Amino acid sequence: MTDFRVGFGYDSHRFAPYRPLVIGGIVIPYELGLAAHSDGDVLIHAVCDALLGAAGLRDIGTYFPDNDPTWKNADSTILLAKVVGLITEKGWKVNNLDCTLILEKPKMKPHVELIINRLAELLRMESDRVAVKAKTNEKMGFTGAGEGIAATAAVTIVRS
Ligand code: MG
Repeated sequence: MTDFRVGFGYDSHRFAPYRPLVIGGIVIPYELGLAAHSDGDVLIHAVCDALLGAAGLRDIGTYFPDNDPTWKNADSTILLAKVVGLITEKGWKVNNLDCTLILEKPKMKPHVELIINRLAELLRMESDRVAVKAKTNEKMGFTGAGEGIAATAAVTIVRS
């Protein structure tokens, strides 16, 4: 049996004015962005934690502390590239990625394919190995109230 690992990541960020909304490395036109030390890319942060977890590494905050000025307003795709570097060093390659965004607004349907293609490009794999779904929380809880966005990510990695 091939040596493989599963990783799971979760992240959430609060909406904030005067910030771009960046999800999966794509800027989404919307009146609010996400509050964060970095660009607040909730999906990429969940993906980073899933990859790190799969490889038995520590969480995203260990590698990119939110009190480090290096990562102030940082493009999270750079964080993801560094995480891919870390798992590559450990002898792993990404096999597939499956993500869910939980938000009431904005509607993600027009952007999902772009996000999938961007994530596939960042992970250097075919886009049919990447899945991104978006769903509402039926108006329940903080995502349902439109206070912010949550994201989950599951990955498998295999020996390179
Ligand atoms: Mg985050």
